[in-house]
Amino acid sequence: MIFWYVVVGIIGATLLFMFLRAAFTRRPEVLKAGVEPYGVDKDEVARHLSEAVRIPTVTLVDNENGDGKYFIEYREFLEKTYPAVFSIARRTIVNKYSLIYFIEGTDKALLPAGILAHQDVVPADDEGWECPAFGGEIKDNCVYGRGSQDMKSQMIAALEALEILLKDGFKPKRSLYFLFGHDEERKGTEGAVKISEYLDKKGVKLEFVLDEGGTILDGKLLKINNKIALVGTSEKGYADFILEVDKDGGHSSAPSRRTAVGILSEAVYNVEINKLKPAWPKPTKEMIKALAPYVNNFFFKTALVNRDILSPLLKKAFTLIMPLTNTLVRTTLAPTQLSGASAPNVLPTKATANINCRLNPGDTTEKVKKHLEKVVGKGVKVILDEGSIEASPVSPTTSDAYKTLAKSISEAFDGYITAPFLFIAATDSKYYYKLTENVFRFTPFEKTEDDAKRVHALNERQDVDALARGVEFYIRLYKNL
Ligand SMILES: [Zn+2]
Repeated sequence: MIFWYVVVGIIGATLLFMFLRAAFTRRPEVLKAGVEPYGVDKDEVARHLSEAVRIPTVTLVDNENGDGKYFIEYREFLEKTYPAVFSIARRTIVNKYSLIYFIEGTDKALLPAGILAHQDVVPADDEGWECPAFGGEIKDNCVYGRGSQDMKSQMIAALEALEILLKDGFKPKRSLYFLFGHDEERKGTEGAVKISEYLDKKGVKLEFVLDEGGTILDGKLLKINNKIALVGTSEKGYADFILEVDKDGGHSSAPSRRTAVGILSEAVYNVEINKLKPAWPKPTKEMIKALAPYVNNFFFKTALVNRDILSPLLKKAFTLIMPLTNTLVRTTLAPTQLSGASAPNVLPTKATANINCRLNPGDTTEKVKKHLEKVVGKGVKVILDEGSIEASPVSPTTSDAYKTLAKSISEAFDGYITAPFLFIAATDSKYYYKLTENVFRFTPFEKTEDDAKRVHALNERQDVDALARGVEFYIRLYKNL
């Protein structure tokens, strides 16, 4: 009996502690900037983006033999469109098409900032499009076309902002690098990797780099009244694992008891039911810590504020709520491709499955390979394919660079909360950790769910008002550097 009193007492005390902790968690005042918009001519910036979209800078299949004429045309377009920027920018062309522009600041003691964007876009033909894929049409207050979101909008916004400021007599205090790769959509090995190597050889160090990444979320989803600007402080790693089964082939009219395809199918099933254990990567922990105080639902807030105490339960909840929350706490494994025999009546001598893996900080390809070897079963080889990349390091949110970024966000987007998070897609920015520990991924455009779905898909388009506000963001950023 006493035992049960003790148990109930401990549970009661813990609950009380958690409720009190939630009740007393102070809600930091949302940075209210009260800054008047600088004033951006939205029609002009829309026209510039439309012109940029019309140049079909589709990623080259091969840097050496590819015809890069559109990249040259695009470079000439940029330099013609922003004369104030490019009259003072020092240009270096890297590996034929990638671009480094250096703009010297007045205070040479400060480390330069790196503004990243990729010039290339994924392919598109006109089929299924409302407007031609490379037409740059402006319709319903949107610029239509491939690259209008990913990511010519961000490059145009970054350049437009500096052009406006320079024309008004602004002199940047901190030096700036514009770093424009040309093959982000093919992993960035010909572009961003070469740019970063070039700068590293020159001994360049950067205060921070800013690339595409997190967007602006409506806080309602999380019972938060404000909008939330998510800044990626880390990005997931990428790996393809090939499961391979080798067997004697032969005619399918007389199959042996176990076939390559049968064994492989079982292996794929085993991978799917034996998921990797969830864990809390630092960016996810920091995201919860940043957002929990603003949650209006008291029970939800209590759960998030007490993440450390409720860790196993909350982790489980994250894995179940939706695929996106699952990715924030777990390295994911997704079967994506299967291959067997070349004809329907042939037993394959080799059957393979591709397992696409996105690694969280804290997990490694080596660890995942061991996990796969354990679960796939007998007779199945696990091969790590070329081109894998580990999860990136995690950039600090305590740095001046992060604070400057958050300040600029709050000035351009009054009343929005800035929070760090784990970016689940890949960007060029991961190649810059040699030059700075402050690698941030943020796309300063508000977008509807519908518009977000158009990236890499049909009818990609960029809202013009959001574009102009993105220019405001870069104006604030340059002023705050
Ligand atoms: Zn992109």
